[in-house]
Amino acid sequence: MVASRSTLTRDEIVAAVTDLLGPEGVDTDAARLRAASVDRFRKYTAVHDIFDGPFPAAIVHPTSTAQVAALLDFAHRERVAVVPRTGGTSTEGGLETVVADSLVIDGSRMDRVLAVDAENMMVTVQCGVPLQQLEDLLREQGLTTGHSPQSKPIAQMGGLVATRSIGQFSTLYGAIEDMVVGLEAVLPGGEVVRIKNVPRRAAGPDIRHLLIGNEGTLAFITEVTVKLFRFYPDTTRYHGFLVPDFADGVRVLREVMVAGYRPSVARLYSPEDARQHFSDHPMDQNLVVLSAEGPAGLVAATSQAIEEAAAAVVHTPVPEARIRSWFEHLNWGPDKIEAEKKQMLATRHLGYTTEVSVDWSRTAELYDAVMTRIRTTFPRAADLTMLGAHSSHSYQTGTNLYFVYDYEIRCEPREEIEEYHVPLNAIIVEEALKVGGSMVHHHGVGKYRTPWVQEEHGSAYRLLAGLKREFDPHQIMNPGSVYPLDADGAAVLEVAGS
Ligand SMILES: Cc1cc2nc3c(=O)[nH]c(=O)nc-3n(C[C@H](O)[C@H](O)[C@H](O)COP(=O)(O)OP(=O)(O)OC[C@H]3O[C@@H](n4cnc5c(N)ncnc54)[C@H](O)[C@@H]3O)c2cc1C
Repeated sequence: MVASRSTLTRDEIVAAVTDLLGPEGVDTDAARLRAASVDRFRKYTAVHDIFDGPFPAAIVHPTSTAQVAALLDFAHRERVAVVPRTGGTSTEGGLETVVADSLVIDGSRMDRVLAVDAENMMVTVQCGVPLQQLEDLLREQGLTTGHSPQSKPIAQMGGLVATRSIGQFSTLYGAIEDMVVGLEAVLPGGEVVRIKNVPRRAAGPDIRHLLIGNEGTLAFITEVTVKLFRFYPDTTRYHGFLVPDFADGVRVLREVMVAGYRPSVARLYSPEDARQHFSDHPMDQNLVVLSAEGPAGLVAATSQAIEEAAAAVVHTPVPEARIRSWFEHLNWGPDKIEAEKKQMLATRHLGYTTEVSVDWSRTAELYDAVMTRIRTTFPRAADLTMLGAHSSHSYQTGTNLYFVYDYEIRCEPREEIEEYHVPLNAIIVEEALKVGGSMVHHHGVGKYRTPWVQEEHGSAYRLLAGLKREFDPHQIMNPGSVYPLDADGAAVLEVAGS
C-alpha cells in the first residue's frame, strides 16, 4: 500500500467530491469499493472475496467534461490519487488502487453518441459509450468503426483508447491508434484539451499519441472521434487450415501480409489453444484462420491470395461454416464473465493470458522458447492443464503472440497470483524482450508489467518519463500504472542505468 499524499482525511475527500457532483454522483458502498480496488488480474481472488486493499475513498460518476475537470482540479490541488475507469475490463492491474483513499473516476455515465458524420466518415462519442452499443447503432446505417476487441460487449470508448486496444479485424482496419481522428481530455489541474479532427497533419509530432495508451496516467479522456468504414456483412469469407508445423502457420500469415493483402482476420493457433475452441481439434495440428471482408472484388482477390499462401505449406482445409460459426461467438459479454465466475467458485481451475509482439524472423523461436522454459523451469509446471499460444494480429514486420495458460491451483487461493500468474507472466515477458520483441502487445502495462517498462523502452524511456513530469507533476494519475513506483511510492522517471 502507498500512503496518500493528501492532507485530507478520507471523509473530507468524500465530502469534497459530494460537493462537486452531488450525492448521486458519489458511491461509497463498501462492497463496490472493495471490488473497485482490483481488476481482472486478480479475478480469482476477487471472486473468493479476498481483497487486501487499499480501498478507494469513493467511486465518482461525472456526467460531463466540466465535472471531470472539477474533479481533477480538486485532486491535483489536494494531492488525491485518482484511477480513471470506464468499462472495467482491464486485465493487467490498470484499475488497482494502490494509494490509500484514492478516487475511482468512472466515466461510464458519459455515454452519449455526439455526432455520426457519414459524409466525413467519423463518429464522436463520450468516453462511456460501450463499443457494442456504438457498433449496433452504426451497423443500422451500414457503417462500422472496424473495432472489434473480444471485450466489445463491455469495454467503453475511453478505456479502449486509453489502453491502445486492438480488435479482431485489425489487419484490415488497424488498431485503435489507427482509428482515432481526434479527442478531448482533461489534464490534472482541470485543464481541458481538444485535439481537433483532421484527416492528417504535419504540424509537429502527432499529439494524439501522447494520450492514446496513457492508461489514465496522464489525462482523463472525455470524448473520442474515430473513423467510420462501410460495413459489408454479406461478402465476408472465412478460411481455415490445419498445419502440422507452427512455423508453417507463421509463414502463411506472413506471406498474405507481405504480399500486400489485408485480410480482416489473420490468426494462428497452437494445437493446445485450438483445442480450447474446438473440442475435437487434433493435437498434432495448428490452426490457421483468415477472413476476407469488404467490397466483393477485394474479397475475391484476398481469398485467392489466402488459398495460394496455404497451398505453399502442408495443410488440410477446414470447412468455412465451422470457422464462421466459431468466429461469430468469440466475444466475451456479461454472460461469459458470469459463467467464468461460477466456474472459479466451483473449481480451483483458472486461465490467464499474456500477449507480446515480435518480428517475423523470431516468431517461431519465441514460441518455442516460452513453451520450453515454462515446461522445464516453472516450479508448478505439473499444475498446468493447458499451455498454448496464438497469433491474432499481424503486421508488415511481424506479429503478436498471445500465450494462454490454465492451471489447477494447488496453494491457498490468496497465493495464486504469486505462485502462478506472476511467474508465468514474467517468463513470457522476459523471453519476448530477449528476442527483441515488445513485452506487451495490447493489454497495456497496467501495474504488473512495470518491472520491465524501462527495459522495454531503453533510452527512449526519457520521453515517457518527460510526459509524466510535464502533465502530472504531483503524480495523482493512476499511480503504479505504466511507471514503476520506488520505495516511497513515487514514479521512477529515470532511464535504467543512467
Ligand atoms: C474477456 C476480455 C477480452 C478482452 N479482449 C481484448 C481484445 O480483444 N483487445 C484488446 O485490446 N483488449 C482486450 N481486453 C482488454 C480490455 O478489454 C481492454 O484493455 C479495453 O480497452 C479496456 O476498456 P474498458 O472500457 O473496459 O477500460 P477499463 O478497464 O475501465 O480501463 C482500462 C485502463 O484504461 C484507463 N482508463 C479507462 N477509462 C479512461 C479514460 N476515460 N481516460 C483515461 N484513462 C482511462 C484505466 O485507468 C485503466 O488503466 C479484453 C479484456 C477481457 C476481460
